[in-house]
Amino acid sequence: MRNTIRLTAAALSALLFAPLWLGAQSTEPEEVKAYRGSVYVEQQSTYTPSFRIDGKNTRVRNVILLIGDGMGQGAVNAGMYANGGSLTLTNLRTIGYVRTQSADNFTTDSAASGTAYATGVKTNNGYLGKDPAKRNITNIPEYLAPLGYACGVLSTDDLNGATPAAFFAHQAARGDKEEIWADLPASSLTFASAGTQATFESMPLSTQEAIQRRFKVVYNPADPAVATSERLVYLPKSVNLDRGDYLPATTELAIDYLSRRGRKGFFLMVEGARIDKCEHANDFEGTVKEMLDFDKAIEAAIRFAEKDGHTLVIISADHETGATILSRANPEDGFAAGVFASKGHTPMMVPLFAYGPRSGEFGCIQENSDVANKILQIFGVKK
Ligand SMILES: [Zn+2]
Repeated sequence: MRNTIRLTAAALSALLFAPLWLGAQSTEPEEVKAYRGSVYVEQQSTYTPSFRIDGKNTRVRNVILLIGDGMGQGAVNAGMYANGGSLTLTNLRTIGYVRTQSADNFTTDSAASGTAYATGVKTNNGYLGKDPAKRNITNIPEYLAPLGYACGVLSTDDLNGATPAAFFAHQAARGDKEEIWADLPASSLTFASAGTQATFESMPLSTQEAIQRRFKVVYNPADPAVATSERLVYLPKSVNLDRGDYLPATTELAIDYLSRRGRKGFFLMVEGARIDKCEHANDFEGTVKEMLDFDKAIEAAIRFAEKDGHTLVIISADHETGATILSRANPEDGFAAGVFASKGHTPMMVPLFAYGPRSGEFGCIQENSDVANKILQIFGVKK
């Protein structure tokens, strides 16, 4: 009898304490340092298209692919709620997700993901326009230019930055800046604009001359050569915060430039590069401001698509950065507060938005490489 009582007490104590013990084992959090930040922004207007052409199975002449570097769910939420609850981006109706893993790493870098978006082939982190065996992979401009399409890239990073470089360079090391610039003259681009004048001038003279033989190089968007040149490289003085409306204004310029030169149409890649850079620095205010700047470039693309009727616009990201979370917001006041749980990239899926004919093909969960392969298919390219 006494034994039974003792056993019961032991069993009872085990029952009482087991959940605590198990709980401690299974839910003990990994130590994560959270970096917080908040912002008040002046709200900007957004644009809502008519959706008249959205999802129609009609001919696509032009594709504009906008890549928000590091633009995950957190950055979209932060930008949208800080801006009174809407962005041109979130006014769109076709929504999907993109998986970003690279060939050799579950968490991609911008070189591997940029290459997947530019070629339809997954490669190793650090590689630009090369497959894991270091063989060159054909990029979208190389497929399209011989068919009569004019192709361009625009970025708030340096031109040798991984995302723009993925559309013209073939280098196994993303850090080989001079080699990447030296790939520009032999590329299939008609238009390129990114940072900066100073970076270009720091290149070997032979590289500068080779670029100038192939392209008209200008430092000012009002240069008369913008109207008369056959191929253009426009290098701003700065792509940093002091760049003003460089990204949205040059998106308009690029669309105008390419649409006058592509016999059959054009392909343009526009990168909002500094969302990622702010998230790496755990700068919440900068993340929101860069999102709003990127949204103005998106608006320029959507307005053109609406007017043109044969332009497909796709907006996504190469990866998420910062494990960025919106923690509080007051849309009426333009207030948003957030938390970063990382200083690096994460493997989370990123959102995709699309507008224009055949947009529906992107409203699903897909790989980054699938996005490029669908674009090539829509242009009628057989790989
Ligand atoms: Zn990054």
